[in-house]
Amino acid sequence: MPYRTIIEPFKIHTVQAINFPTLQEREAALERIGYNLFGLNGAEVIIDLLTDSGTGAMSSKQWAGMMDGDESYAGSRSYYRFRDTIKDITGFAEIIPTHQGRAAEKILFATMVSPGDVVPNNTHFDTTRANVEYQEAEARDLVIAEGKDPSSMHPFKGDMDVAALERTIEQVGRDRVPLVMVTITNNSGGGQPVSMANLRAVREVCDRYDIPFFLDACRFAENAWFIKQREEGYADKTPREIAREMFSLVDGCTMSAKKDGLANIGGFVGLNDPDVARDCRNLLILTEGFPTYGGLAGYDLEAIAQGLEEVLEETYLQYRIRSTAYLAEKVSSAGVPIVRPPGGHAVYLDAKAFLPHIPPHQYPAQALAVELYREGGVRGVEIGSVMFGRPKPDGSEEPAAMELVRLAVPRRTYTQSHIDYVGEVVIAAAERAEDIRGYRITDQAPWLRHFTARFAPL
Ligand SMILES: *Cc1c(COP(=O)(O)O)cnc(C)c1O
Repeated sequence: MPYRTIIEPFKIHTVQAINFPTLQEREAALERIGYNLFGLNGAEVIIDLLTDSGTGAMSSKQWAGMMDGDESYAGSRSYYRFRDTIKDITGFAEIIPTHQGRAAEKILFATMVSPGDVVPNNTHFDTTRANVEYQEAEARDLVIAEGKDPSSMHPFKGDMDVAALERTIEQVGRDRVPLVMVTITNNSGGGQPVSMANLRAVREVCDRYDIPFFLDACRFAENAWFIKQREEGYADKTPREIAREMFSLVDGCTMSAKKDGLANIGGFVGLNDPDVARDCRNLLILTEGFPTYGGLAGYDLEAIAQGLEEVLEETYLQYRIRSTAYLAEKVSSAGVPIVRPPGGHAVYLDAKAFLPHIPPHQYPAQALAVELYREGGVRGVEIGSVMFGRPKPDGSEEPAAMELVRLAVPRRTYTQSHIDYVGEVVIAAAERAEDIRGYRITDQAPWLRHFTARFAPL
């Protein structure tokens, strides 16, 4: 189309009201929840950019599919639709439904990972890291150096450092590396894409050492779109063809259907090895359910099958990636430091640059996230030392590589004016950055502490 504005490729069919808590109500909420935005009631949030996970709007065709879900305990027709859709996109022989992505991780790692192992990834997502560590193995992040530099304009900042991967395998020994994983797009590293060339290079190393290669495929369609836009030789391929090629380079994947499944719940493991699949299914029965539903209702399987078709439509992906870039342009043109170029599903504010007076152990990104809520009821999430800081033997903490606030954009949920409002809130907080203070943790859990920790202002 010859017009500049990329419009939402849908019209609104059902609406849900937004609440507007006052500033006093927001202040009171912050005190009540110990300044941890995970503690908010959804009704206390005006624009919720906490996550793009399970927060998207489903299409009329997905809802129609749900009405037609088959709730047979074993052999549900909806399972076969789910399985065949995923087989068609990925080419994997074995498709195991799970109730969400972390359940897929738990089952796969419990099957493949042993104590003392090392699992390389470009950047582990928080639940992925926790599930590796729960097996008493080490989760090692090997993203390229540009991926840790918020100002680098490298087109594929999610790429894995292939030389570092090879060094890791040599150093710890092939037998202690049960699988290599690459996260597409690299969520915790800024939602940055991974190139096909990099996937091919990782495959080559894995082949040389005979190590299985898996994708954390939550945003495979967004990654495919970036490859189409940025990598030579892919401009004329469809997102589905590119996705198929990405999956052809690996032995399996874990997936959260709450992301590029365009569904509100669900996930799966896809893989080719029948022995690993059998062991995964045995665990699945123990913790999730029978292999043809895996912790999901038949209607969920329908919603996911339909969502996986819609997510690969070019009009959808063009709108999706453009809507994130639009928010990024809005805030960065006002001088707010962000991770550039913007990722697929989120804009990451660079709190280290935004609040240089707050040191990492006073959690600058947490402070910024709290301020966006206080300012305009916008909920983002800290991706920094609260989420990834490591305790040291002396009781201090090894800070995270970056201090980011992620503003994740739910799929097909907010309009351009909602995003304009978010931009204004971020800019208003930036104008009083010097007055923002850090936090200390008053209470925390032994793992995934960011979900439940409580804070006090300094
Ligand atoms: C969301 C996510 C997961 C976990 O999926 P859940 O459905 O939330 O359990 C794993 N990896 C990445 C990259 C994710 O974004």
